Amino acid sequence: MKSPLLLQGIPALEIVERYGTPLYVYDASIIEAQYRKFLEAFSLLPVKLRYACKALSNVNILQLLKKWGCGVDTVSIQEVELALWSGFRAKDIIFTPNCISFDEIQQVVEKNILVNIEDLQNLENFGRLYSCHVPCCIRLKPHILAGGNFHIQTGHADSKFGISIYDMEEIISIVKKYQIHVIGLHVHSGSEIKTADQFLQGAEILFQTALRFPSLEFLDLGSGFKVAYKKDDKVLNLADLAQKIYARWQSFSKDYGKSLELWFEPGKFLVSQAGYFLVKTNVIKKGNQIPFAGVDSGFNHLVRPMLYDAYHEILNLSNPDGQRKSYNVVGYICETDTFAKEREIPEIRVGDILCFCNAGAYGFSMSSQYNSRLRPAEVLIYQGKDYLIRHREKWQDLLQNQVLWDLDKDLFS
Ligand SMILES: *Cc1c(COP(=O)(O)O)cnc(C)c1O
Repeated sequence: MKSPLLLQGIPALEIVERYGTPLYVYDASIIEAQYRKFLEAFSLLPVKLRYACKALSNVNILQLLKKWGCGVDTVSIQEVELALWSGFRAKDIIFTPNCISFDEIQQVVEKNILVNIEDLQNLENFGRLYSCHVPCCIRLKPHILAGGNFHIQTGHADSKFGISIYDMEEIISIVKKYQIHVIGLHVHSGSEIKTADQFLQGAEILFQTALRFPSLEFLDLGSGFKVAYKKDDKVLNLADLAQKIYARWQSFSKDYGKSLELWFEPGKFLVSQAGYFLVKTNVIKKGNQIPFAGVDSGFNHLVRPMLYDAYHEILNLSNPDGQRKSYNVVGYICETDTFAKEREIPEIRVGDILCFCNAGAYGFSMSSQYNSRLRPAEVLIYQGKDYLIRHREKWQDLLQNQVLWDLDKDLFS
């Protein structure tokens, strides 16, 4: 018998018995190990981490990261609220939104949170209102192609993120005109960057641009740290990257004349591998050549395979020693929601519990109620014990915020 999946010693099947399916489970020890691993790789540099909480925004996860000394990267005022509610100090939060109104920027500034400005109009608005009185960061679009595939590249010429480096003269002229206090520069070129050199391309742009901004306190190199989804997947070698950045950092610091902080904003790197998504097999259905295994979930709970062509390893926890067969693993949503095509998995039977690995990042946080299905529960494994950290939704949750009128009586009489 293959060893069953254990999460800090607790069999995953036991967790399923306790909480049911579909279920997201996170192993806190893996998040902590990833966090320490990152810091250790960069231990020679003045590094600060800002967890990109859109990856997994449960407040218990936020509180853990805060406890370990991590900051947080937010993309909406609602994420800012969640971070504050979880106990983060304003100064440990950065706000890196995209295409938002100046109104939202103002609301975030009022909470004393650093804003990363990523378009010229809002930079101008910011300068006009705050001049040198409120510090800010500027997000640059580096015009480089980095990151896994088209869906997750954010730094190329056609990308909507950041202010183009070709608009540098305009940026400088707005900054001068209003005496804007720019304390940080930022690039985030995409998710799943595979080589140190690709990463350094983005960094190099910051190192060069920084020389034109005399009052900087940090450079923010964003994220893009891939994790292995398949066994032989190549991932960025952190030690190698740290060494290369370190070499360049030395000469940069000399040129700049003062030592800055170096920020990163990993999301996936910290939480992806810690997450398991557990589902139950509803049906085994004859297909054209390959059978379908239909499970009690769909793209309403885990959209990455359909949205990004993402690969998630699938384990059959109920029959780990079964004969391997090819399946199309599909969801129960009335859409083509294929989790995996022609995947070899130990024989799947009705009722078997399947586990999607690497489901901690962009799993629950991208879930919806489509098809009027309920969102799964979330469980955290912390110091050898399991904790329910989000209730499974109930059907009444579908009514929340719906306003019920008696149309005949109220509207037409
Ligand atoms: C999403 C995002 C991240 C995190 O990306 P990962 O690939 O999950 O590490 C970091 N910074 C910004 C600005 C983001 O939008």
